[in-house]
Amino acid sequence: MTSLPTPSLWTESLDYLGEVARHLKLPDGIHEKLRHCRRSLVVSIPTRMDDGSVKVFQGYRVQHNTDRGPTKGGLRYHPNVSLNQMKAMAMLMSWKCALMNLPFGGAKGGVVCDPNVLSPGEIERMTRRYTSEISLIIGPEKDIPAPDLNTTPQIMGWMMDTYSMNAGYSVPGVVTGKPIEIGGTAGRREAPARGVVHCVQLALENLGLPVPGATVAIQGYGYVGRHAHEEFENRGLKVIAVSDTSGAIHSEKGLPYKALARHKAEQRHVKGFTPAQAMTGEELLTLKADILVLAAEENQIDAAVAARMNCKVLAEAASAPTHRNADPVLRQKKIFVIPDILCSAGGVTVSYFEWVQDIQSFFWSENQIHENLRNALSRAFQTVIAREECRTADMRFAAHALAVQKVAEAIRIRGIYP
Ligand code: GLU
Repeated sequence: MTSLPTPSLWTESLDYLGEVARHLKLPDGIHEKLRHCRRSLVVSIPTRMDDGSVKVFQGYRVQHNTDRGPTKGGLRYHPNVSLNQMKAMAMLMSWKCALMNLPFGGAKGGVVCDPNVLSPGEIERMTRRYTSEISLIIGPEKDIPAPDLNTTPQIMGWMMDTYSMNAGYSVPGVVTGKPIEIGGTAGRREAPARGVVHCVQLALENLGLPVPGATVAIQGYGYVGRHAHEEFENRGLKVIAVSDTSGAIHSEKGLPYKALARHKAEQRHVKGFTPAQAMTGEELLTLKADILVLAAEENQIDAAVAARMNCKVLAEAASAPTHRNADPVLRQKKIFVIPDILCSAGGVTVSYFEWVQDIQSFFWSENQIHENLRNALSRAFQTVIAREECRTADMRFAAHALAVQKVAEAIRIRGIYP
């Protein structure tokens, strides 16, 4: 799954913000402030490799806006990481947090690397040095990283340990998505997938379509895609196709979660799973299914792909998986889009719960977490659906209008310093 060639995600994000700002009639000064990220830190990360050599990786941490609170957002390890991508994703996190009513602004971090060719020891040393380099600007009341593409609870554990060793005491609230043993929360691991499935259920109910038996195709079978498969199956939906970098597989009878998860764990890809048929990743995107879940990377669908799509609900579980030029086509085809800033908000919402628990050193039950997540998503979903823009434009535009308005209001109240 490679991304389609497009102008930079950052340029597109600025253009989209411009449209939303014009629609909201935002004062120029506030719009201008939102167009800029507050801080962008570029670091080099010298890392001792297993063979004794030293390799220097490039890393970033970008904080978009702090008017509503400290910044929050994931850390990704991927060869495509760039400063502009981090800026676009930090801005998206500002909208996501505002939409979900979390007291955070948006941030994003990344290291340019291919974690598949690094050993666990190399990843640990790179992570610790990266954490040390960005420790100036992170902290429980400043900026709180979390897992994202190719980063794990163990990686968050190394970040927490590195930061704490330098502070001289344990600081669990500096990252979220940590293992439970060191201050992580119940329910964080499944939260992104649960959020997606809950949003899909709300969308089906909104469209008056039955939930049990609804068919699902999932692009991407990593951490989010796999957990979403399990959760869909638990709720009686039928996952008929999934894909990863090896290709796609399809079975109209439905793919059984347990057997496929075992196959993926053993083979490291979905290809070859029997008795499913093979298909291409592109065929999966245009397959006839009630729901298409995008759980891979950014820019997977453009206007040309959208024109051939055959689903009723498009669930954006990844960040920015749909190019803006696809939106008019999706609208015209009456495909119900659950935009990324809502559909992928499960993770950061439970991260917020984790941060609150760490600060109070008082931990909640798994049921409380699930229920609070469900309520937060339902509230956000209904607020977006009720907005005027949903009638005249689409759910993406309505969600952005709501979120940008909240951040703009915080800027207006606080004023510009000095
Ligand atoms: N990486 C996830 C996201 O982009 C989670 C971020 C977080 O928990 O802070 O939404």
